[in-house]
Amino acid sequence: MIHARTLLVTGGAGFVGSNFVRHAVGRGCRVVNLDKLTYAGNLENLATLSGSDDHIFVQGDIGDRSLVGRLLAEHRPTWVVNFAAESHVDRSIDSPGQFVRTNVLGAFEILQASLEHWKRLDAESARCFRFLQVSTDEVFGSLGPVGVFSEQTPYAPNSPYAASKAAADHFVRAMHITYGLPTLLTNCSNNYGPYQFPEKLIPLVILNALEGKSLPVYGDGQNVRDWLYVEDHCHAIFEVLLRALPGATFTIGGRNERTNADIVRSICALLDELVPPAGDSHLRAQVPPIATYAQLIAFVTDRPGHDRRYAIDPSAIERMLGWTPAHSFDDGIRKTVRWYLTNRGWCERVSSGAYRRERLGLGGAA
Ligand code: NAD
Repeated sequence: MIHARTLLVTGGAGFVGSNFVRHAVGRGCRVVNLDKLTYAGNLENLATLSGSDDHIFVQGDIGDRSLVGRLLAEHRPTWVVNFAAESHVDRSIDSPGQFVRTNVLGAFEILQASLEHWKRLDAESARCFRFLQVSTDEVFGSLGPVGVFSEQTPYAPNSPYAASKAAADHFVRAMHITYGLPTLLTNCSNNYGPYQFPEKLIPLVILNALEGKSLPVYGDGQNVRDWLYVEDHCHAIFEVLLRALPGATFTIGGRNERTNADIVRSICALLDELVPPAGDSHLRAQVPPIATYAQLIAFVTDRPGHDRRYAIDPSAIERMLGWTPAHSFDDGIRKTVRWYLTNRGWCERVSSGAYRRERLGLGGAA
């Protein structure tokens, strides 16, 4: 098969990365996927691509510059897309060191390997080459009740996770300004959808509810996030790769602000409709019996340094690249809940290691 282009994607066995690998293959690309397979990476996330010549999996660390250099020399990708990261804020509060190793030092090594590779390319290949760093809106810190993050917002990271992502973003910028490496940077809001590891709010709430366990909401539940369906994020990244000029940055979001309490209540309402608790013998046996999943909501100790509100102004990517999300929140959350209901085996298998949906992130840094 003739491929439109080859990509080196890192972290492609994780949540957003695996959705992106499928998106890129669906658009005619060949993907070399470098992933360390931490607790958050699962090859089962890519099962729909097994046997395909369009996806080559390599287990390894983005911090291994010689491995990355070999992959670049062998496969000569047009685009490098760096998703690989430690991604859970609560874990960054407990163990920030691993976030520095992967998100800062690892990102630096893959940038250096990409720079060395890019300098050796012929003029036409060097002109087409792009290094895209997938980043987050959390680098901008916290908003008050009004205002939005845009490409002009100064960085003010508050959690160790956000600080590590911010550091990598600064190196991406420096590599472009100092050496001319054709970089791109995207800062996206919270994603949700299939294959998200069950430590994150939406899958955690779905799975706990189905087992009649409490649904933890941090603090007063009024923290606001701007939610985007994962496929819309993947589509946005692809458009940036295709059409943005080197050095560009874009903020990506779905104009979809919700409080955490609202998110949890929306999931409970959907589960009440799709799997009524009264029809489940396990839930009927609860004391007291559950009439609606919302009865399981429990407000718990807040996350230290919990950012109050994130909101994205996506008007630049809308205007310049013509991207808009294809999913409304109502469509996306319904698809997501249905996916978790029909993939209980996946949930069991990815959680069968050390992580059992316990509370993380109350401090005690390692
Ligand atoms: P995830 O935790 O689900 O996946 C991370 C993947 O990276 C895993 O497959 C893991 O095995 C791999 N990995 C970790 N360390 C590695 C290393 N040193 N070398 C190679 N692979 C390694 O994370 P996610 O939610 O899919 O996020 C992916 C990227 O998107 C991250 O960079 C994150 O900051 C960014 N992002 C995520 C969101 C979101 O809401 N999930 C929003 C904006 C940006």
